[in-house]
Amino acid sequence: MLGLMQDQPLLISSLIEFAERHHGDGEIVSRRVEGDIHRYTWADVAGRSRQAANALDGESLGFGDRVATLAWNGYRHLELYYGVSGSGRVLHTINPRLHPDQIAWIMNHAEDKILCFDLSFLPLVQAVHAKCPDVRKWIALCDADRLPVDSGIPHLDSYERWIGTQPDTYAWPTFDENTASSMCYTSGTTGNPKATLYSHRSTLLHAYGAALPDVMCLSARDSVLPVVPMFHVNAWGLPYSAALTGCKVVFPGPALDGKSVYELIEAEQVTFAAGVPTVWQMLLTHMKPGGLRFSSLTRTVIGGSACPPAMIHAFQQDYGVDVLHAWGMTEMSPLGTLCTLKNKHLAQPAEAQDAIRLKQGRAIFGVDMKIVDGDGTELAWDGKAYGDLMVKGPWIVKAYYKGEGGDPLVPDANGHGWFPTGDVATIDADGYLQITDRSKDVIKSGGEWISSIDIENIAVAHPAVAMAACIGVAHPKWDERPVLAVVKRPGAEVTREELLKFYEGKTAKWQVPDDVIFVESIPIGATGKMLKTKLREQLRGYTLPTI
Ligand code: AMP
Repeated sequence: MLGLMQDQPLLISSLIEFAERHHGDGEIVSRRVEGDIHRYTWADVAGRSRQAANALDGESLGFGDRVATLAWNGYRHLELYYGVSGSGRVLHTINPRLHPDQIAWIMNHAEDKILCFDLSFLPLVQAVHAKCPDVRKWIALCDADRLPVDSGIPHLDSYERWIGTQPDTYAWPTFDENTASSMCYTSGTTGNPKATLYSHRSTLLHAYGAALPDVMCLSARDSVLPVVPMFHVNAWGLPYSAALTGCKVVFPGPALDGKSVYELIEAEQVTFAAGVPTVWQMLLTHMKPGGLRFSSLTRTVIGGSACPPAMIHAFQQDYGVDVLHAWGMTEMSPLGTLCTLKNKHLAQPAEAQDAIRLKQGRAIFGVDMKIVDGDGTELAWDGKAYGDLMVKGPWIVKAYYKGEGGDPLVPDANGHGWFPTGDVATIDADGYLQITDRSKDVIKSGGEWISSIDIENIAVAHPAVAMAACIGVAHPKWDERPVLAVVKRPGAEVTREELLKFYEGKTAKWQVPDDVIFVESIPIGATGKMLKTKLREQLRGYTLPTI
């Protein structure tokens, strides 16, 4: 017997309709690329996202066509979140920190039809447009009078002119909630970047989950600052959870330095902020010398990389701000676990509570997790046994866009598919996850991925290099930095400096290794693969050069 409840698909358009109706005067504040502060309301977001939807219809875009963005966190980007997905198209947010060649590759792979970009990324668009012949229109997120002349970009328009003539009425279409809504590429462990394709259903369920009290605890009383970029995993879902709860949203734009972030937090009385450790490090470094204090901030969610104990301590003890340590992945929309205490912990001494806060936290309802050994046998939740972390749930990927990389899921005895995260972890008896290592060969620097394979491929293209292995080495500011171990060809000579120079123009500057170490050999496993774990062990005593 089926239930007799209304069968209404979970669609992203319903979020913005709700925010407009119930929180129409709720504020959205953005620091613009131009440097000034822009303010308007949820009702304005709704109206202008309908104008954007009309403008997209005017481009004869089909249902499911991809519309890309290269943009900071700001109000126009938010309008595209709703206008693009709400009208049945797929929002493809692109990471502007990638090399132009990688961006062009991703855009062609996604088959983007339109690209909307902040003017700060004009040089990037100038570098890629000729390589993306299928893009029909390039839209600069600016007023008509700021549109660059002689940019060399064909079919260039300003966003304000593009949507300005459109009506702000639009009937959001109704369709299957499993329809794709947005996509995000991530550098895989092997081969080219792969895209996670989110659906309306996964996005709404994730938005509900993220707002829960033991997760981000969002409410209409909050003023929320997403420092985590909207170009990476939908800013951890905050643009959606914010509409669902009707909170005030404060967008930092491109100004992510400690001073700008601090000033915005104070001026807009931010209560909750989200970002990777590197950003918070800059904020704390700015605040400490002048003895600055927060007058409104009560909690911050920190994730994307392990949050250093000193940072949790500083926020908690020095500033009275609760740190919510979070773990997740692009493939998980991204939230998997978040660290909050349980009732029984409240009576425990401060040190015991601090030890819990260092962990990445408990699973959110909607995320199943387990740790397994090399044979796939599930390991005990005793806080000691560590193994490969596997997850499943309705906001977790089941396949990559275009089937790239084949079927990523590992079936269990009941035939349920689990996604292997590439992280190694323990889980304690209370269900708290702690990441102890990473089995995937990628390096995370300042919250951004560096593909070790890309770095190695460039090195082995050098005539003097026989073999190269890139590993991540701990760094106080960036969490990890890439270092290259190189075996020279017999009789060939090359210096560290020559090799580093060889990277110029071939990859983004921040992805260039910090150092080159010449070695006799690189450990190789039985299957012929380089054994990075062993290499890391061999280089344990190594410290990065201080430049
Ligand atoms: P991304 O797909 O770029 O969001 O990166 C996801 C990966 O970042 C995870 O698989 C982890 O390796 C790492 N990561 C994310 N959050 C944390 C955290 N709190 N502690 C340690 N590693 C993390």
